[in-house]
Amino acid sequence: MALVVIGETCCSLCGEILQEHEARRSYSMFAAPADLVSHVDTSMHVSCHAAWPRRFDFDRAYEVHQRELESWASEQRTRHEASRTRVDPVVARDHAAVMATIRERGATCPHCGVHAHDYREFSSTPPTKVLCDACKRVVSPFDLKT
Ligand SMILES: [Zn+2]
Ligand SMILES: [Zn+2]
Repeated sequence: MALVVIGETCCSLCGEILQEHEARRSYSMFAAPADLVSHVDTSMHVSCHAAWPRRFDFDRAYEVHQRELESWASEQRTRHEASRTRVDPVVARDHAAVMATIRERGATCPHCGVHAHDYREFSSTPPTKVLCDACKRVVSPFDLKT
């Protein structure tokens, strides 16, 4: 939300300083139509907003933004839940064992055939992946020949 300092912040529509007793609306940052960007991240009098001819365009763009923000947030939550429940302790332990073997004995990349010790962990959560330093390709550690 736009930061409002009562007695200092101006209404973005009439330019008057917002007073404590006056009803106001605040908007956070969002992608508004080009001619309305000067009202983004501002506050305005409810009375000025009610008389503003562009209020429908502005509020519609704001609602779209809020909805996108919500769906993004819920998608992040779902993804987070999924990654938590997907971690299989057996696979994780096997991955650690495979990584230790690679570091100790080296492994042959199935893509380029280079035998190396320095495979970097690309993803340590299942499905685990390592990065071949020679060809920069992503490989499942279980496809490496040790
Ligand atoms: Zn105003
Ligand atoms: Zn390779």
